[in-house]
Amino acid sequence: MYAFTPQRIQLGISACLLGQEVRFDGGHKRSTYVLYDLKDMFDFHPICPEMAIGMGAPRKSIRLVCDNDTILLQSADASLDVTQKMQAFSQRTVPELANLGGYLFCAKSPTCGMERVNEYAVGTNNATKTGVGVFARQLMATYPLMPVEETSRLNDPHIRDNFFTRVYAYHEWQSMRAAGLTKHQLLQFHARYKYLLMAHNQVIYRELGPLLATMEDNLDEVAHEYFTGFMTALKCHASRKNQTSTLQHIQGYFKKQLSASQKAELTSAIMDYHEGLLPLLVPITLINHYVREFSCQYIADQVYLQPHPQVLKLRYGL
Ligand code: SF4
Repeated sequence: MYAFTPQRIQLGISACLLGQEVRFDGGHKRSTYVLYDLKDMFDFHPICPEMAIGMGAPRKSIRLVCDNDTILLQSADASLDVTQKMQAFSQRTVPELANLGGYLFCAKSPTCGMERVNEYAVGTNNATKTGVGVFARQLMATYPLMPVEETSRLNDPHIRDNFFTRVYAYHEWQSMRAAGLTKHQLLQFHARYKYLLMAHNQVIYRELGPLLATMEDNLDEVAHEYFTGFMTALKCHASRKNQTSTLQHIQGYFKKQLSASQKAELTSAIMDYHEGLLPLLVPITLINHYVREFSCQYIADQVYLQPHPQVLKLRYGL
C-alpha cells in the first residue's frame, strides 16, 4: 500500500494518460494538462489494469458486454474473455489504494471509464452508454468519497474547479485522520469550511452543524456521517445563485467595518458576478483585500476564499 504523505497529494491515474504506450493499439492518451499543469503539484501513481493482467500492447480490444445481469469484459467476437482476471486484479489492487487522494481515469474505457462507457447487449453490436469500467467500478465502490474524474472532463472549468476543491478537502481530512482526529479539530474543520459548504449545497450545510452538536462519546461515528455529508455536498457544483448568496453572507460579516463606498463597490462586484458580467475572482479578490485591511481572522480562515493553490489557476474561468 502507498504510505500516506500529508505534505504531498498522491493521485492514481490511468497509465495511458501519462503517455505510457499501454493502449490496445500500442499508443497512449497523453494528457497535456496532467503533464504540464499538474505534474509539479501532485505525485501520480499510474496503473494500467489491462497491462497488469498480462494482455500486452498491442492487444485485442475488449468491451463491456451485458448478459442479463452479468457484465462481461470480452473481445467483440467473444473469443477473449478477461472478466474474471480483471475482477480478481481489481479486488486485489484497490485495497492497496486507500491512501490516494483521488483518481484520474481515462474516459470511455471498459476498464477505466468512470461513466457513460459503451455497454453491448450480448451477441449484438447494439450499445448503450450506461457502462462503468470494471476497475473504475471497484475503486468507486470501495472508496465512495474519494474524488474521481475523467481527464477529458477537466476541460470544463466548473468540473475542474469542483474536482480539485474535493481533492484538497479530502486530503486535509485524510491528514487530520492520520494525525488522530479530535472533537475540537472536527468543529474547527467545519467552521473553516462553512462558506464553501454553503456555496455547494445549502441543504446539507444546514444539516451538518446540528449533526456535530450531537457529538458526545461517538466521535468516529459522527465524523464518518459528517464527512459523508461533507463530500456529498462538495460534489454538487456551486451554482452562481449559491455563490452569490455566499458572497453576500461574507459581506454581511464586514458590514460594520465597510464604509458606504466600500459596501457599494463590493455589492456591485457581487451583483455583476451574479449577472455573469464579472468572474468570481473579482468579488473574491475584493473580499480578500478587506480581510487584510480589517484583520478579519474568521473570514481569512475560510477555505472558500482559496480552496486550492492559486498556481493551479482553477478559478479563472468561473
Ligand atoms: S484506459 Fe486503462 S486499461 Fe486502457 S490503456 Fe489506459 S490505463 Fe490501460
